Amino acid sequence: MKQRKSIALVAHDNRKADLIEWVRFNKLKLRQHYITCTGTTGKLVEDELNDNVLGHPFEVIRLLSGPLGGDQQLGALIAEGKIDIVIFFWDPMTAQPHDVDVKALLRLTVLYNVVTASNRSTADFVISSHIFNENYERKLKDYSVYLNRNVKT
Ligand code: PGA
Repeated sequence: MKQRKSIALVAHDNRKADLIEWVRFNKLKLRQHYITCTGTTGKLVEDELNDNVLGHPFEVIRLLSGPLGGDQQLGALIAEGKIDIVIFFWDPMTAQPHDVDVKALLRLTVLYNVVTASNRSTADFVISSHIFNENYERKLKDYSVYLNRNVKT
């Protein structure tokens, strides 16, 4: 993980206000990194990171909307090693049409040992950690035994 991190920001509708409040609070820090979002979250985040006071425009990488494939796109980026940190404020009180995509995304964050926060407290701890702005070697499990397993044909 380089000093400039790739950070994914995602929030379900009922938690978008919480995420945007967190983004507002951490605006200056977040603008020093690459930000990737699912579609609707990305529009809000980009608006928040671009106010008149801050000068040059800041571009957010926007994937599809979560339920339309955005969560799966983000999962693919994680599998390709292109995301360092996921801040995903998911809704614990509302059933989601794309629940399987959410589950798949969270599974990949664990599989690839990606820093993941699902709530404000954890997000605060992550962003204020002294290694947030440093190089960090993310340890990955060795799956060679699995990859070389004997598969009968
Ligand atoms: P959205 O998707 O940012 O397009 O609303 C969020 C999600 O449900 O994953």
